[in-house]
Formats: sequence, C-alpha cells, structure tokens
Amino acid sequence: MTEAPTLPQIVDTHTHLDDSAFDADRESVIEASRAAGVWHFINIGYAPDRWESSRRLRDQHPDIDLAIGLHPQLAARFDSALVRELKRTIADLAPVAVGEIGFDFSRTAPSADEQHRAFRGQLEIAATAGLPTIIHQREASDALIAEFDNWPNLAPVVLHSFDGTQRLADWARERGCFVGIGGLATRRSSQPLRELLVRIPVDRLLLETDSPYLAPPDAATRRNTPASLPRIAAALGPLWNLSGEDLCRLTSRNASLLFGLPRVK
Ligand SMILES: [Zn+2]
Repeated sequence: MTEAPTLPQIVDTHTHLDDSAFDADRESVIEASRAAGVWHFINIGYAPDRWESSRRLRDQHPDIDLAIGLHPQLAARFDSALVRELKRTIADLAPVAVGEIGFDFSRTAPSADEQHRAFRGQLEIAATAGLPTIIHQREASDALIAEFDNWPNLAPVVLHSFDGTQRLADWARERGCFVGIGGLATRRSSQPLRELLVRIPVDRLLLETDSPYLAPPDAATRRNTPASLPRIAAALGPLWNLSGEDLCRLTSRNASLLFGLPRVK
C-alpha cells in the first residue's frame, strides 16, 4: 500500500474497536482509519468480557496496543477473583496501561465505597506493574485529586476525554498528567471545556476518539470511528495555535513516548 507523504500521523489513544458496533465491518473501519492517517490504536478493555474481545482483536492486529482494567461503572464486580483474573490478564497481554479506571459519580450506583475499593485496588496493580493509568472521571474531580494525592509515585496518568473542573485542570498541569481530547471538546456546548483545555501544555495532550462513542457533531453517523481524528484535530488545534496536522504530530509523539510505542513515523 502506498501512502501519501502528507497524511497526518495519528495515534488514537482510546478506542473500543472490539465493541459490537463494529462486528459487521471492523476490518474496513480499521482500514479506513489507517487510510485517514491513524497508524496506531490503543484499545481499552474495560471489563472481563472486553479483556477477551481485546485479546481477539490483538490476535488479528498485533500492532494494536491494549489497556486493561475495570470501568468504574462496573466497580461492584471488583473482588479477589477479579483481581486474580486482572493480574493474570495483564501478565498475559502486556497492556501499555491499566484502564479505564477511576470514578464516575454521575449515577447512583456503584456506590462511592465500591468505586474507591476498585480504584485503589487497580492503582495498586498499576503501581506494582509500573504501568500508566487511563482514567475515566465524571463528576468526581475532587475525589480523584484526593485519591491520587495518596499515590505520588505512579507512572504517568492519562485523564481520558477530559471533562472536569478548573481545579482538576490545574492539578493535572501541576502533576504533569496527560489529557485526552476528542469529539466531546468539539461540541458547540463545550466552550467552558475548551477554556480549561488551553491550560494544558501541548506536550501533555493526547488525541482519542472513544469510538464508537462521542462522535463529533459534524459526523455523518452517531457511531464514531478513529477516522474522525483528522477533523477533530483540525477543530481543536487552533486552541494551542496549531494546525490540525501539527496537533496530530505532537500528540502522536506524546503517545509514543508515554506508551513506548514502536516508533514515531
Ligand atoms: Zn472508553
């Protein structure tokens, strides 16, 4: 396959390509994403059945990297049997991060206690493995900061699809967290979010789609795919006085350094 040399070089740092939304045409979605310049993907396995579907995806595509963890909305499932399975899966699949983990207080369940237990248990696993963490956070900025203050020596932290308070943005900048940006920030209603994002330095930004979720407002369908990243980058680059292509290149380099990806093209 010959590639046009001017294609942007993009890492999609948060995808769910194993999702059933892609069962009918997964291979063509991946191919179209590569044709749009997305040369590397991090697929997030967020529940035991998703660890298995992520494994199958990686068997098909050895160059897709994985993150493995238990989503905070599933925290009630966190018990010693799950810990054993999670540790075994991490040893087996060699993911580049533990995630997505964190706090989601936008619903009443699981309880805050259950979420704390699952989050702490997985931070412990990440600390032991020396792996970065990919964090899902909703309506839990202060709880997240309080928990991380107990863990000063963790490997780098990624705040995925950042959507938090000014305090969280400032804390993230001070701690040197990486911040995932994608379709959410391109919405017309996201002006307050964009005002927080400009506080994050460009060497801490990562591009992500969260496919099949969070389609940008100009998308043809509600199903998001990694191929939307060049348009997302073109929309968000000006926040940092960057062209879309420069934002792609910089975030690609950030992702490669953070996750130890094989190369920056
Ligand atoms: Zn996700």
